Amino acid sequence: MKIRFAVCMALLLQGLAFAGERAWAADALPKVRLFTTGGTIQSRASNRDKLMEYNDGPRVTPSELIADLPELAAVADVSYTEISNVGSGNIDTDKLLALARSVNAWLAQPDAAGAVVTHGTATLEETAYFLNLVIRSAKPVVVVGAMHPFSAISRDGPMNLYNSVRVAASREAAGQGVMVLLNDEIDAARDVTKNNTYRVDTFVSRDLGPIGFADSDRIVFYRRSLKRHTSASEFDVGNLKALPKVDIVYGYQEADRAAIDALIAAGARGIVLDDGATAFRDAVRDGQAKGAVFVQSDRKGSGRVLLSQAAAARGVVTADNLNAQKSRVLLRLALTKTSDPKEIQRMFNEY
Ligand code: ASP
Repeated sequence: MKIRFAVCMALLLQGLAFAGERAWAADALPKVRLFTTGGTIQSRASNRDKLMEYNDGPRVTPSELIADLPELAAVADVSYTEISNVGSGNIDTDKLLALARSVNAWLAQPDAAGAVVTHGTATLEETAYFLNLVIRSAKPVVVVGAMHPFSAISRDGPMNLYNSVRVAASREAAGQGVMVLLNDEIDAARDVTKNNTYRVDTFVSRDLGPIGFADSDRIVFYRRSLKRHTSASEFDVGNLKALPKVDIVYGYQEADRAAIDALIAAGARGIVLDDGATAFRDAVRDGQAKGAVFVQSDRKGSGRVLLSQAAAARGVVTADNLNAQKSRVLLRLALTKTSDPKEIQRMFNEY
């Protein structure tokens, strides 16, 4: 009951928080800061028809991204901070923490309207969900990528970036948590996943659908997440220098316990099981005896993992409908607060 009251209050505050932050003058362009990390949206190839193995041209800088879109001048006053210029496989804890701190510092400025983050699409959903849990503002944050490089015929990056700035500058986007925008679609960071290796419509929110669209007449939203995020989150990266090691183990026919044992020996404080296997049972018990926390996710990629009494009795946390990579993000942050599975289950129910 106490927890439910706290969550209701947090969600209410989350809804109200932006009201106090609407500080930019009505006649001035909203100030949007672009935080660049790299990815295909900042990649270039030697030929316009090269849509794979395209990193043979110089990488695209933040100022080139902005100069390429003169239309932005009518939408927002855009500035930038470069965090990195790497593929998303190279985004590590240091970069995540630097990004989160920079976005928080920007949004804390009264006249900042919103933030846009460029990112490679492969791990984009992980960074987006991480930010969703640690950004301490209700102002809009949009994570954007592209499937075609900057140099391609019919590249998708510029329209995605243009639309992301429109969303970050829009008042309707406040309180929506961190959003992901590609292909005109606005998805909640918690729900969205990369669904296709190659097509431009790769990002989908399988269980719940998009929350809105960036169409040419206006930005339109249809729903709001009831999960805790951003200004209602309990997680704080302000003083963190590192995050606990958490890994993912895939379940399949005849999977044995070797991977779990090896990861625990390598220092994992948590493991997300992406589906199960009979041989995992003993490894989980032994891992728990060493203090590790296990979260049960599922490789199907949509649907909830239900909270069974058997799993609860074994002290295994269930992931609800978070996929394994998102579960890993939440478990790492949860472990900065506690290693009590009951308390961590509470977090998986709320975020
Ligand atoms: N390899 C790229 C990455 O950085 C893929 C992309 O951005 O679409 O994730």
